[in-house]
This record gives sequence, C-alpha cells and structure tokens, in this order.
Amino acid sequence: MSQEKLEQLREQLDVLNLQLLEMLSERGRIAQEIGYEKEKQGVPKYDPVREKKMLDKLADLNQGPFEHETVRHLFKQIFQASLQLQQTDHKKHLLVSRKKQQEDTVITLGDITVGSGKPMIIAGPCSVESYDQMRKTAAVLKEAGITVMRGGAFKPRTSPYDFQGLGIEGLKMLKEVAAEFGLKTISEIVDPSHIELACDYLDVIQIGARNMQNFELLKAAGDVRTPILLKRGLAATLDEFLHSAEYIVSRGNTQVMLIERGIRTYEKATRNTLDISAVPILKLESHLPVLVDVTHSTGRKDILAPCAKAALAAGADGVMVEVHPDPATALSDAAQQLNFEEFKLFLADVKQSGLL
Ligand code: PEP
Ligand code: MN
Repeated sequence: MSQEKLEQLREQLDVLNLQLLEMLSERGRIAQEIGYEKEKQGVPKYDPVREKKMLDKLADLNQGPFEHETVRHLFKQIFQASLQLQQTDHKKHLLVSRKKQQEDTVITLGDITVGSGKPMIIAGPCSVESYDQMRKTAAVLKEAGITVMRGGAFKPRTSPYDFQGLGIEGLKMLKEVAAEFGLKTISEIVDPSHIELACDYLDVIQIGARNMQNFELLKAAGDVRTPILLKRGLAATLDEFLHSAEYIVSRGNTQVMLIERGIRTYEKATRNTLDISAVPILKLESHLPVLVDVTHSTGRKDILAPCAKAALAAGADGVMVEVHPDPATALSDAAQQLNFEEFKLFLADVKQSGLL
C-alpha cells in the first residue's frame, strides 16, 4: 500500500470518527430526555429486557466485519454510558459524601457538639448492670468533665449463654442515672421495633458493628430524629460503611456519627485491628463526624491512650472508651474495661498531648 493510499484511508477514518462522535452525542441527548421522562413517570432507568432486545437486534443485523460478540460488547458500553447520564445526582454522589455537602455535619448533645473541631469523649461500661454500677460510673465521668455516658442494654454476644443485657430495664437505669448526673446517654439498639421506644430513653442510638448492614434497623433509625452512632462492621469496607450511613440519612435522619471500632485481620495481638487510616479517609469522603472506639478495636487496656492520641491526631471528632467500677466482675468485656483510676490516668495522658 502506497503512503498516499494509507493517508487517504486514515482521512476517511477521521471523518467517520467525527460522525460517530456526533451520533453518540445525539444518542446521549436523547437518552437524557428518556431519563427525565422516566423520572416523571417513576419508572426504573435500567430496563434489561429492552437492552437485551436492542442487543439481539443489532447482532441479528450485523453483517461484519466485526463479530456478533464484539458488536454486543461495543453497544453494551454505549448503553452503560447512556444509563450513567440518566442517573440522578444522588446516585452519583451519596448524601453522606463531601461532594454532596461541603461543610461538616455538627451534632449537638447538650452542652457539647460533635464534629465542630473540638473532640469529645464517650465513656461508660460495656453493659448496664445495676443502679449502683451506673451511679458510681456517672459520678466519676461527671467529675472528669465527661458529658456523654454509654452503657449497653441489648448486648449482641457471640455466645447465647453469655449475659445478654438488661433490655428495656437497662435503658431505664441508664436514663435515670444520667438524668441524676446531668449526662447524655448512648446505648445500642438491635431490633428495628425498639428504635422508636429507644428515642424516649436515649440521646444517641448506637447501631453496633454486627448490625451495620442490618438494613431494616438502618431504615428504622433513618425514620426517627434521634442522633445515631453507627459502628463500622467487623469486616466492612469504608464504602460499605458509608452506604450504611446513607440508608439512615436518605430517610431524613441527618444526625449520624461514624465510629471506627477495629476490623478483623489475621493479627492476634489486638482483639481487632484499629484501622487508623479510616479516620482521615472518612473525614475526606464524608461530612459526618468520625469517632474511634479504642476499647473494642484493641481489646487491651495497655495501649488505649496511644491509640486515642493517634485517633485524635488523625482528625477524629471523638473517642469512645469503656469504664467500669470493678472490671474484674463485669458481666461483659471484663478484660478490656478500665477501672476508675486507669480511666483518670488515660484521660490525663490524652489531655497532656494537647489533642483533647
Ligand atoms: C459496644 O460498643 O458495646 C459493642 C458491642 O461494640 P461493637 O458493636 O463495636 O462490637
Ligand atoms: Mn464492650
């Protein structure tokens, strides 16, 4: 083939490329119009039956030189790109994403705010066990200037033979003692039918790691207006974590806090592996407050202070830590809860860093 002939054929291709581009753009505009129409009619954008029909027809009419499968593949790409054009904004960017909302979500809990740049501490026992236990803890928290007290009443335990929590009775204890000491309350709810009731007892509803993808629970949490503390699942990616938060926010409850609590890895030195990189990534990706549960992520008392400092240095809006009057006798997580002396030392250590 002469050089001249090659040039000529290339020129023909250039012309065809431009024509293809024009046709693709025109196709895209029509697909967008179809998208608006479907939106108005409330019908789904993706129609696999129609797509299959179009692909079958194109393959039938194909006379080469491309193979049928190649034609199918090329048009499938075009259909996918057209569908993307039709997707509404919220499909492209989650409500919880920074792209959707630039400014930080700030949650007010009495005298303090979460997510406003001033980190806070949530502390309290793993489980609510008795009035006496809760009063002793509340007194120490109050003295230390902590204003949000945790305590589990519905405990998701690995073994059905382990202490399951005091249930509603436990919520009552938590609320009563917190009111006595002027503290805010936080506790885990595991059953969607308890969410509404929980609003009467709690200032913050916790959704635990094991329930991060309990979608009915997330929907119920989205239907109330009590702030939610959503824990990262045991083996959840950050994308899955954010999608779980989206379940809540998309139903109107915008008061969601994310909490990293360690993930499952092969490492045995800690109960879970604290994924510290989750903090800056979540802060970049989302406008929601991000906290770190140092107790459940490490499962050991001797490294809580450095982990809390690491969390705050990485940009966390708060830290959760378990405290019990007599950890050795605790009905759950006995090995990892701090006693009051240890808690005071922990707090002093973290404060000394200037990060709190
Ligand atoms: C808890 O905070 O009491 C708890 C059970 O934690 P997680 O869901 O993170 O295991
Ligand atoms: Mn615990």
